[in-house]
Amino acid sequence: MNNVRYGGLEAGGTKMICVATDEEGVWLDQLTIPTLTPEETVPPIVAFFKKNGITSLGIGSFGPLDLKEGSDTYGSLASTPKKGWKGYPLLDAFNELNVPIEITTDVNGAALAEATKGAAKGLDSCMYITVGTGIGAGAVVNGNVLEGLSHPEMGHVPVKPHKDDSFQGHCPYHGTCAEGMAAGPAIEARWGKAGIELAEDDKVWQLEAYYLAQAIAAYTYVLSPKKVIIGGGVMKQKQLYALIREELVQQLNGYMDIGNPDDYIVAPGLHEHAGIEGALLLARQAERKR
Ligand code: ZN
Repeated sequence: MNNVRYGGLEAGGTKMICVATDEEGVWLDQLTIPTLTPEETVPPIVAFFKKNGITSLGIGSFGPLDLKEGSDTYGSLASTPKKGWKGYPLLDAFNELNVPIEITTDVNGAALAEATKGAAKGLDSCMYITVGTGIGAGAVVNGNVLEGLSHPEMGHVPVKPHKDDSFQGHCPYHGTCAEGMAAGPAIEARWGKAGIELAEDDKVWQLEAYYLAQAIAAYTYVLSPKKVIIGGGVMKQKQLYALIREELVQQLNGYMDIGNPDDYIVAPGLHEHAGIEGALLLARQAERKR
């Protein structure tokens, strides 16, 4: 009888984080490597999980992913601009481990982790939004991650441009969607400098909050999450949290009661570990389904 060993993979566009734990969730081994081409990146990850004798694997991946039930290419990367990864069969790459595997988006995994052991611990519903090189969001609804046709693409909801903002948007598909107006590259394209160099410029962050609050208002109306957790590189500008809360309250205009905005919009309780902890929880789900 083998010991239970969980493997978690947080597959990101810039790095891959792998962790192996025992049955109790104690970290036994970890590996972080840069995301190069699949041929360079995947074999050391497979070797890591083999070496650690994992008995199930959870993957939280960057997207878009094919998560359509019954699809021949289930678990493959879809139309990512990331070199070499378009169409890559990420799930099947781990078949040789011969263990049960669960896969979902990195943000769905992070939402699951936050609902299980982070800022939304004890709640059966929450959202996790990342604002960085893109905007992505995942959700837990009735205790399960939200998937349907495939996985949600909430970063691409339309937003209304501010009357003083002539920026045309950075999304190649939609121009002025939330990601096109408020992700890191949009900030840089609009202002001509990276967000980090604009830290002191209040109007940058006021406008950023205006767009993010629009997206969050839409999510709030549609999904009615009990808590909204926001992470990602852009949110290192901590002043954004208060600005987003203010904007959201204004935009909801009293129509929906979100309680205390300070409790509704929060930073990740698991800090930068939400993604990998989510992947490890998926490994537990995979084990249970066996
Ligand atoms: Zn878009």
